[in-house]
Amino acid sequence: MKYIEKNEEPKQFILWKEQEAETLEMKYVNCEKEKISAEKIWSYLPSSAPKQLEEGIIYYDKEQLKTSLLKEQGKICCYCGKKINVENADIEHFELKSLNSRKTFDYHNLWASCKEPIYDYLRENEKTWEDIAKRLKMEIEILKNLNPTFNIEKGRRGDKIKIHNDLHCNQERGDKKDKIISPADKECEQKFSYHLVEEKGINYLEINGLAECEEAQNSIKVLNLNTKWLKIERQKTYENVNKVIIEIRKQSNGNPMLIREKIKQQIDIYYNIEQNDYQLRAFCFVMVYGLKNYLKN
Ligand SMILES: [Zn+2]
Repeated sequence: MKYIEKNEEPKQFILWKEQEAETLEMKYVNCEKEKISAEKIWSYLPSSAPKQLEEGIIYYDKEQLKTSLLKEQGKICCYCGKKINVENADIEHFELKSLNSRKTFDYHNLWASCKEPIYDYLRENEKTWEDIAKRLKMEIEILKNLNPTFNIEKGRRGDKIKIHNDLHCNQERGDKKDKIISPADKECEQKFSYHLVEEKGINYLEINGLAECEEAQNSIKVLNLNTKWLKIERQKTYENVNKVIIEIRKQSNGNPMLIREKIKQQIDIYYNIEQNDYQLRAFCFVMVYGLKNYLKN
């Protein structure tokens, strides 16, 4: 998880809420009386702009909202850090709207989180995972990670196979009420550590929560931050830490002061959203974790 600094709330969103204030208030009251669900309130904000716009009406939609959230997050998921865009992101309510419906449109409660694609694969004559991987033009190991439970030896042509990664982040969290760490917490990164584990010759980077921090422990469980895929992707990122350090040492002719200075600069570069054209590297906080560890030694 990376600390995310929220931008100012988009003006258009504020205006839309002002325009809809009466209706929204009615909805909040009805929700408090348990006449409607918070989901129903959320659906009041359209997914996208209508084709025909009427003059004098203020429009706002989820796509605009998502675009704004993605920009302030550098297009990475607020929890796991994978790359996201308007198509594969969901809007997450950090404080569950089911617990407090008045937080449904509170900009400071809203984040962009990743959304795993779940798609149905119609089986033809494939007899093995290798056959399916070939048809999907996917590496066999990746495919096996996606569908660990489907028994390929059984079944036949026409079977629908659901292909998806292990769910994580807000898809996994759903309506679970456990307290978790917020990406708005300036100290959030210090509440997690990363550890290399090896299983059957494959390296993974596991995330751990600080022992004394219950919310950090909860976050890993509730958001399922140790899925195989996430562990592999984090490890791939972490492998670059050494390469970066070697390069910096070379550039600095082994001068320790200069090496430290350049590593600090590199950390700033990874985290500078504007300089990176509002696109951070996937799992950039893993790189930063590795570099900061080097600085500690
Ligand atoms: Zn995520």
